[in-house]
Amino acid sequence: MEDEKVKRATTEALFRDVNERIAETAEPFEANATEFVCECADANCTHRVEATLEEYEEVRADGATFMLAPGHEQDDIERVVEKHGRFHIVEKMQATVRAIVKRLNPRPGTA
Ligand SMILES: [Zn+2]
Repeated sequence: MEDEKVKRATTEALFRDVNERIAETAEPFEANATEFVCECADANCTHRVEATLEEYEEVRADGATFMLAPGHEQDDIERVVEKHGRFHIVEKMQATVRAIVKRLNPRPGTA
């Protein structure tokens, strides 16, 4: 259902905004991993994923890619493009969801 896809896309965009704030306050020269929130479509998800700022920046370089806890991907809207030990990177494939997350991209300069 379309409404439900809009809701999931909005949830993911909100988690992404939270992570943007986390990345802003993280120490840029800190080699250790930072704790981010899982950016999956489940509004009740409280999982944390660890990634370095460099890894995080790689995810944010594309307006349609998100990082989430392994297994949290939802096959009908996204596909896993990269598997790290601690998190997976997914790309939104479903047209509605993809359009919304790109429109809400906090970094309009990126793809
Ligand atoms: Zn999750």
